[in-house]
Amino acid sequence: MSSLITSTIDLDKDGIHHGYLQLLHSVHRSAYGFIPIPIASIKNGEGPTVLLMSGNHGDEYEGQVILSEMMRTLPLEDVSGQLIFLPMANFPAAEAGLRTSPLDQGNLNRSFPGVENGTPTQQIAHYIENTLLDRADYMFDLHSGGSSLFYTPTLLISLYGDDPHLAIKQQIQKAFGLPFTLYFERDEIGGFSSAAAFRKGVCSILTELAGGGTVSKGLPDLAGDGLKRSLHHIGVLRSAPPPSTRVSRSFAEEGSVFASEPGVYEPLADPGEDIKAGQPAALIHQIETPGRAPVELFFEADGVVLAKRQPARVRRGDCLFHLGHQEQLT
Ligand SMILES: [Zn+2]
Repeated sequence: MSSLITSTIDLDKDGIHHGYLQLLHSVHRSAYGFIPIPIASIKNGEGPTVLLMSGNHGDEYEGQVILSEMMRTLPLEDVSGQLIFLPMANFPAAEAGLRTSPLDQGNLNRSFPGVENGTPTQQIAHYIENTLLDRADYMFDLHSGGSSLFYTPTLLISLYGDDPHLAIKQQIQKAFGLPFTLYFERDEIGGFSSAAAFRKGVCSILTELAGGGTVSKGLPDLAGDGLKRSLHHIGVLRSAPPPSTRVSRSFAEEGSVFASEPGVYEPLADPGEDIKAGQPAALIHQIETPGRAPVELFFEADGVVLAKRQPARVRRGDCLFHLGHQEQLT
């Protein structure tokens, strides 16, 4: 499939190669410049091809740290097959520390399958789906909560109908060893990277690794080891850190608590906490209106808090909590 984006490294070549995807971008300060999207390939003999991606949302940093370290330090002889690293997938967003691109306001994870000659974000989506996923067997897309949410470390597994990859996804869940796993039922018509992977017959795994617009202490090691165990399980890494003894609790469906009023929100629960329906979730203080009592919000279902909002100022409609419900998928 053709693309306006070109790579400075040859993805068909064996060995360790670091370089850039070049996205032509003609603007006032640079008439014939390109946007340099970091890429690396570690390819050694026979084995699966795996796309490792982070910076899909630019303000989610744990995955970016994990992948930049892995592509810098992994020895060639540890790989059997190919690892393709895209640590700052939406580079303009990642460079600016923003969820979406400052060039076109594009949210890469709502932009698949992209447009060949579209905006920068659309072109990146198009290249990932039609060039990188076209050659991949697996995709790991490492997200965190970004600037507005903080997650307890959670693996995300998207299921597409009678998902042909369900068994291997559940094996990867075990190898990864994050404390929580959230199963989503999705259809293939969608702008998500997991939908792009499904369209290309690629087994996809996503994460939510913490967030809050920072890098949480210990998270890159915890999730980096889990990622390596997963890559070992699927046969592309020859060695792996010791097996995780953690039991990963599985949850289904998503449920959220949204701000019903603008104001200053005070959370009454934390990520990782088990909750019961009817339990208080948050107070929204009405500081602009003297004498008005805070608005009280409640959880509507039993479950576990997977993420909570970070910034205190809220507007009506902001997501305050992201919940996992306890009915398990098989
Ligand atoms: Zn994200």
